[in-house]
Amino acid sequence: MKLNQNNYYGRGANKIWFSVSQYKDFMKCEAAALARIRGEYNPPPTRAMLVGSFVDAWAEGTLDAFKRENPAIFTRKSELKAEFRKADEIIGRIKADPLFMQFLSGEKQKILTFEMFGVPWKIKMDSFSEGICITDLKVVQNFRNLPLWRYDLQGAVYQKGAEICGYGQLPFYLTVATKERVPNLDIFQIPQATLDMALREIGANIEHFADVKRGIVEPEYCGVCDYCKNVKQARIRNYNELLEG
Ligand SMILES: [Zn+2]
Repeated sequence: MKLNQNNYYGRGANKIWFSVSQYKDFMKCEAAALARIRGEYNPPPTRAMLVGSFVDAWAEGTLDAFKRENPAIFTRKSELKAEFRKADEIIGRIKADPLFMQFLSGEKQKILTFEMFGVPWKIKMDSFSEGICITDLKVVQNFRNLPLWRYDLQGAVYQKGAEICGYGQLPFYLTVATKERVPNLDIFQIPQATLDMALREIGANIEHFADVKRGIVEPEYCGVCDYCKNVKQARIRNYNELLEG
């Protein structure tokens, strides 16, 4: 199988290759991650994810197709819904900022596959400037919560993947726009020490996740995610345990 823009997110590809989002799925809940790979669990994208995809589609030059494929972003009067008007406003701000645009001016949606820690990986980079840097575009609520999304894991895999593919070690940047009333824009570099630490963390976890994915080891159920709630069976509990913690 050879990956392209049409089959990258497909089930066939997710079965073969690990991706950063699949790795994060396993961190959150192994059972849900496995069910997703097997096609037994398919949570629909949230509105917030759709806003991100709207801006991503603009950045890669496919916004018209995105609008055609997602009629849910329009009101009955064929106007953009409020959060997508916000996305339009953010795009306007980005276009007017030369440095931000420069960081997004590399090769768009570049796909690489490689082996790392003994398992196959796939990555798709928003903007890849050969010999210069790797950049990923994020639309978030505010700057403050940025580290909570663990973009260091994404940076670590993208950087190491490009290196394994022969492009050398490139710095990793996030071009970040916020959905605040007045959108904010900045470019964040993830420090090398942070990327190194994130990569070590992945190295420590991936073998177990790969065993679960292969079906050699049973997945753990987190017990609290939507998937786990969906497949669990009711049990008798002590009322007072709800008062603890
Ligand atoms: Zn779970």
